[in-house]
Amino acid sequence: MGPATPRPREAADRTFDTARLRRLRGLNRALRVLWVAALAPLLLFNVPLVVIAATDGTADPWEWAAIGIGGVLLPFAYVAIQVMQGWAAQSYRHRHDGVKRREVDWGDPRWEAVRASFEASGLDPRTIRALSVWDRTATLVTRHVPRPTPGRLGRGSDWGVRNGGCLLGLGLVCGIVVAVLDELDVDPTDGTAFTVFLVVASAVVWPLAWRNGRAQASLNLGNPDNVVLIPMHWRPQLRDNPSFRVHLMHEIAHARHDDPGRRKLLDTCAGVGPFAVFVDSAAVVAMRLGDVVLMVLFAATLVSGIAGVRRAKRLIPLVQELRADTEACRDPEAVGHLSAFLRERQAEQPSHAKATRLAALTEATWRGPGARLVAPAALPAALFGLLILASAIAQWAGVVGSSG
Ligand SMILES: [Zn+2]
Repeated sequence: MGPATPRPREAADRTFDTARLRRLRGLNRALRVLWVAALAPLLLFNVPLVVIAATDGTADPWEWAAIGIGGVLLPFAYVAIQVMQGWAAQSYRHRHDGVKRREVDWGDPRWEAVRASFEASGLDPRTIRALSVWDRTATLVTRHVPRPTPGRLGRGSDWGVRNGGCLLGLGLVCGIVVAVLDELDVDPTDGTAFTVFLVVASAVVWPLAWRNGRAQASLNLGNPDNVVLIPMHWRPQLRDNPSFRVHLMHEIAHARHDDPGRRKLLDTCAGVGPFAVFVDSAAVVAMRLGDVVLMVLFAATLVSGIAGVRRAKRLIPLVQELRADTEACRDPEAVGHLSAFLRERQAEQPSHAKATRLAALTEATWRGPGARLVAPAALPAALFGLLILASAIAQWAGVVGSSG
């Protein structure tokens, strides 16, 4: 491919009409706003630490640097560890669950229609994997399959997944032993032997953790493996039935944008969100104000922070669905197929998400991905950020005292 050839993905995007392109841009903007709302409590994690250090009159620049770096890194390091544990378990399960999957052979003429769908989306079928599944109950789905770190580190993480229960038990036993020794007034952390153990363990563990973390980030964030799983009994339908091909295009859109992988990240960030909201609200509580005022501000911070995270967690998958629908429907015929399917599902099991997707597909008056779509999450998140930052600035500027 010469340098002048446009990237196939961009070329595929150019086949959308202007209205569709505008809607896609709007949906991508909405996703960015919602991600900021979901991450707001983690991004503001540093603020209460700085406020508390300032009220304690910390003067040591090293202490300030530690607070600054620690406050930024701590929440994200926690998220990274959680996410990597989840990846390790999923990767192991995918390789050992006994389901018969086979890499789709693009040379086989029976897969011709599926290959054409991939190519229409600007995806090289050789780079985005499709697996055929031999399971009558399986349905068409896109999945992020985490890649294991190559070599010993990957084998070690597989071992960790297999022996997760034992490791947890070992941790519990160690905890109990330390508690008993503490009761007996024996401090096992007191003495040179323990210090030497700590230094040696750190010297071994940290470089390994760093190498594994870097490999995992580049394998599963930088170049995630999103696999479209195609049940074998769908193949004839994908060839003959245009309605099935719209579903395939919808799944391909998810694969293009790493939607399943991002949802996993979102779940972890939103899981730790309420805890981070609670820590962040220390910046508000530190103000020296009347009890009633303080209680009201504290409640407002908690409610707005948690509402922002929870609603962003609900809305991001919905916006991903809207984007996949928009990319899957390139002509009125496809819109007809997908909306008929959604209408059927909505009659069986009504939901707000399906109603929104239907409205976006069929109603000419649907205003698109504007403020109304993101406001339920963006407004509380903005109020939360405002409360935290305003209280920190007020204490910094000496407008209100700090209870230090
Ligand atoms: Zn979908």
